[in-house]
Amino acid sequence: MTTYDDFERTAGGAVLMDGNKLRDEIVAGIRAKIDSLGNPAVCLATVLVGADKPSQIYVRNKHRKAEEAGMISRHVELAEDATQDDVENAVRDLAEDSGVHGILVQLPLPAGLDAERVLDLVPPEKDVDGLTERSMGRLVRGRVGHVPCTPLGVMRLLDRYGVETSGKQAVVIGRSTLVGLPQVLLLGRKGCDATATLAHSRTSDLAGVCRQADIIIAAAGMARLVTAEFVKPGAAVVDVGISRTEDGIVGDVDFDAVQEVAGAITPMPGGTGPMTIGCLMENTLAAARMLGAVPT
Ligand code: NAD
Repeated sequence: MTTYDDFERTAGGAVLMDGNKLRDEIVAGIRAKIDSLGNPAVCLATVLVGADKPSQIYVRNKHRKAEEAGMISRHVELAEDATQDDVENAVRDLAEDSGVHGILVQLPLPAGLDAERVLDLVPPEKDVDGLTERSMGRLVRGRVGHVPCTPLGVMRLLDRYGVETSGKQAVVIGRSTLVGLPQVLLLGRKGCDATATLAHSRTSDLAGVCRQADIIIAAAGMARLVTAEFVKPGAAVVDVGISRTEDGIVGDVDFDAVQEVAGAITPMPGGTGPMTIGCLMENTLAAARMLGAVPT
């Protein structure tokens, strides 16, 4: 049994919220669950349109982790010049296929394709990315459904590393439907009970707003936006942002400076990225349960 008091710490003394470690725990737990059920087929299907290199890598990693989790995966790849009908037909086929439990359409789609119309074809039970209108509606209404993987991964990290949320002040930087908006909903939900503020590019005195917070979740995509001046001593700081710079891939958080002040911090890479995939696996097992392919 893993204990919670032996966390690795940064040089400055902050708890390191290790996403690789937690993702591995989640994947191993799913594998054990599927094994214990006699290995029912749990299938994740991905749809990739075009030849975007990062998207290809993301999809490959998802398949690798699905296999490690004891799932089977299917992949549909369409050319860059695929038409709206081609993509919609591919998703429709997967939606109707009872052997497929989770469908993930890798975004963004090439220019000229309407992603909303494609996502509309994914049934809520199979929407393991949690990004469709119906899944978002279920999240807002507090009904059973899939939650977007990145904000769900952040919640798992906070929980695993003992970051208290009830009655605490949380600031989320970024208001996208992919990360920031569902993140605020999850933090404010009953059971988590944080007081969550949604900050964005028009927020005045962002540093001052963040300095009030016990928890900061940065999802702006602005390299090293969150400096030590943003952080109240002891606060938990979660970095979601990914920026490609001359120094390589950089997060939204100035890790070296912030780890001196924060009580807990995610590394970048190795924090929220792996957790996104771990939660995709969690959602896929939940999808198989919702569809009756795996006992509840
Ligand atoms: P987005 O561009 O849709 O949204 C960015 C948000 O940040 C906007 O709401 C904007 O108002 C806000 N913002 C931008 N600049 C700001 C500033 N200077 N101050 C305050 N707010 C500002 O992006 P997204 O899809 O939400 O993704 C956000 C970041 O997270 C990106 O870097 C993306 O690559 C990354 N991301 C990481 C993961 C992961 O697994 N770690 C998953 C998804 C997205």
